[in-house]
Amino acid sequence: PSRSEITYFGAGPALLPTEVLEDAAKALINYQDTGLGIAEHSHRSQLATDIINKAKADLASCLDVPEDYEILFMHGGGTGEFSATAYNFAGAWVANKQKELGLDSTKPEDVQKLKEVVNKDLKLDYLVTGGWSQKASAEAERLFGAEHVNIVADSRKENGGKFGSIPDESSWNLSKDAALVYYCANETVDGVEFPAFPKALEPGPDGKGPIVIADMSSNILTQKIPVKNFSAIFFGAQKNLGPTGITVVILKKSFLPPVTSQPSPALMRKLGLPIPPIILQYETIAKNNSLYNTLSIFDVYIIGQVLQRMLKTYPDKVAGQQAVTDKKAQLVYDAIEAYPDVYRVIPAKATRSRVNVCFRVSKGDDVDAAEKAFLAQGTAQGLTGLKGHRSLGGIRASLYNSVPLEGAEKLAKFIRDFATS
Ligand code: PLP
Repeated sequence: PSRSEITYFGAGPALLPTEVLEDAAKALINYQDTGLGIAEHSHRSQLATDIINKAKADLASCLDVPEDYEILFMHGGGTGEFSATAYNFAGAWVANKQKELGLDSTKPEDVQKLKEVVNKDLKLDYLVTGGWSQKASAEAERLFGAEHVNIVADSRKENGGKFGSIPDESSWNLSKDAALVYYCANETVDGVEFPAFPKALEPGPDGKGPIVIADMSSNILTQKIPVKNFSAIFFGAQKNLGPTGITVVILKKSFLPPVTSQPSPALMRKLGLPIPPIILQYETIAKNNSLYNTLSIFDVYIIGQVLQRMLKTYPDKVAGQQAVTDKKAQLVYDAIEAYPDVYRVIPAKATRSRVNVCFRVSKGDDVDAAEKAFLAQGTAQGLTGLKGHRSLGGIRASLYNSVPLEGAEKLAKFIRDFATS
């Protein structure tokens, strides 16, 4: 089929707007009449810097990112950030602890004291609500050891070993002074999304609160977010922003020099803690405006084009996109819920995702045959990419920003037609 004949609901990478790709195809051959394609220009050129700065400014505008946040473009994907967040925030915790206790890293007795504090109190807190936050917590354990990782809650405990909900905040076991509290705002595989910023993590009246880190790989730019409540937000570009290859970090500047500097490698070694590869160290990337090494400027260019398009389409920026996202989700869930004998949404209603709709199909006893028929008939109508994740099975409809409202309408109609056929 041609591109215009299908609506693609794949979980990522996702579709990019066709007009952005058409412009990009020209830019790949000859960017702005320079005779060189966008992927061939030096990342050290003014042209590259302009692309980076514009994309940063437009992202900040779309999401209302406050002035005291830095935006980093990195490589390594969401998975790279599982490591980077653990390294950088553990390092920041050590640096701030050292300062708070007035310890001198050139004095062996002070280093010993700091080591005792680290051994006792360094905790990385993780909310495990799906496969991705589970992987992030496993990476923290691999790097720092299980003794430094605290699982605040694990939704598998309340669902007979399966993900599908978010444990009530009253059951969360938060550390007192954690180096980070990590959660995945939208679990792409399991279809579980935090409906709002967790109350338990909100800053107090003095503006101080826990150091909150969120993985927003699959729901960034689909809703307004209270950026000021986070110390870092990260996301791979490949679902709502651009092609695979760039990971964005929105980082509170107080975690960067001159306020916070990562401890020296020598000190970290003495404390028995791991040192990040330089490419994952935020202060290095920030100091170089994301150009410490060869960044894919082509990818940043596409991100910039997608953001420009969003700003032109929605005068109220991400709020406009949010209204469309909510409507798409409503259409699809309403269709599913209209036929409880045929469809079953997998996650709990209160925390089901607006962007990854996970459900099962059955007609009679044979779920497998019903889902195969659902996928085949959907594909015949140009509705593709609906197969669920291999670990979960079933159907997953991803309603990222490039799926238009009409795409969700077509899917909702198909869901209703299939149920009654
Ligand atoms: N976090 C979430 C929520 C994801 O959906 C994904 C991938 O789909 C990742 C992290 C991992 O990202 P990557 O494949 O870029 O490492």
